[in-house]
Amino acid sequence: MAYLILSCLCVNKFSCKFGKNKMSPLKKQLTDIRQLSITELSEKLTTAGEAGYRAKQIYEWLWKKNAHTFENMSNLPLALRKWLEENFHLNPIKIHTKQLSSDGTLKLAFSLWDSHIIEGVLIPEKDRMTACISSQAGCSLTCSFCATGYLKLKRNLNAGEMVDQVTFLNKEAQNEYGATLTNIVFMGMGEPLLNYVNVTRAISMITSAEGLYMSSKRVTLSTAGIAKMITRLADDKFRCKLAVSLHAADDVKRSKIMPINNSNSLKALSDALHHFCTWSDEKVTFEYILLNNFNDSERDAELLLNFISPFPSKVNIIEYNPIKQFNGTKPSVEGTEKFMNFLFRRGVNVKIRRSRGKDIAAACGQLAGNYIKP
Ligand code: SF4
Repeated sequence: MAYLILSCLCVNKFSCKFGKNKMSPLKKQLTDIRQLSITELSEKLTTAGEAGYRAKQIYEWLWKKNAHTFENMSNLPLALRKWLEENFHLNPIKIHTKQLSSDGTLKLAFSLWDSHIIEGVLIPEKDRMTACISSQAGCSLTCSFCATGYLKLKRNLNAGEMVDQVTFLNKEAQNEYGATLTNIVFMGMGEPLLNYVNVTRAISMITSAEGLYMSSKRVTLSTAGIAKMITRLADDKFRCKLAVSLHAADDVKRSKIMPINNSNSLKALSDALHHFCTWSDEKVTFEYILLNNFNDSERDAELLLNFISPFPSKVNIIEYNPIKQFNGTKPSVEGTEKFMNFLFRRGVNVKIRRSRGKDIAAACGQLAGNYIKP
């Protein structure tokens, strides 16, 4: 609806130079209603002479029922809906493209109000229905094995844009598979801990009774290892599962493929994880992309074992998914088994994560649709 109104404004007041998804200067000055806390919204309503309890109803529409227009908020009086239209904007994301993999994985590209494109992936498995969502448009961290790392960071997503991805993917899960989401992973485009405030707010909306009311045990935040922000998660006593993209337990090697390691060394990461684990009762998941002749030797496995040993943890070995910008390869099946067996025999909970959705570039490290300009 916000978009329809926009079109009207364009036609009536300006010679229309704004695309379908772009906001007019007039609308830009309005507040995005989903950026407000319930207290702030309640204050605005009472200042405008509306009953404060309406804030709860509106909040439910925004976060639980996922209304994408004010017009849809059917239990509100018409005058209040009009007032909302005039004073706020609501910028839901829109589905841009859908791609279905031969293995059932579904990738959705979403367009944001300012025309940036992000991607989210639905991964159906036997007993799980996982939504992998993005936290930023692009990424600033330039991990060499990841297609998103070759795009510049465009901007952080706000909480509403992240919750929208969850609700769209949940609808797809229901339509395509007759199931609802069981897990949500922040492993799409972007580094979630560099968008801390919005990501933690989105997770709160996903897990709280005000929002989608999913268990925080079903929500995983995956980070390249921003030590300071892992510490902050613990200090804020923020509940969610944590996954760390480790990929090498040697500073020189890790820095080669993950430049963030230059400013967030393994020592700093380890200290932050110690702090996190003193508070959290959840296991930390370590993600490890196995690269042939780079991080797959017995020595590498030993370093990995040493690094993870102090923490209650599990290790996911990730199959490398080729991207054209990086010339790594995956080891042989025997090489992978040898590496895993080394860990397994020493009591590590280690599993291999087979890639899903490779034929539609939806697998780990491949998110950067060709509609996104590098
Ligand atoms: S792996 Fe994650 S943090 Fe690294 S470039 Fe890709 S999206 Fe960014």
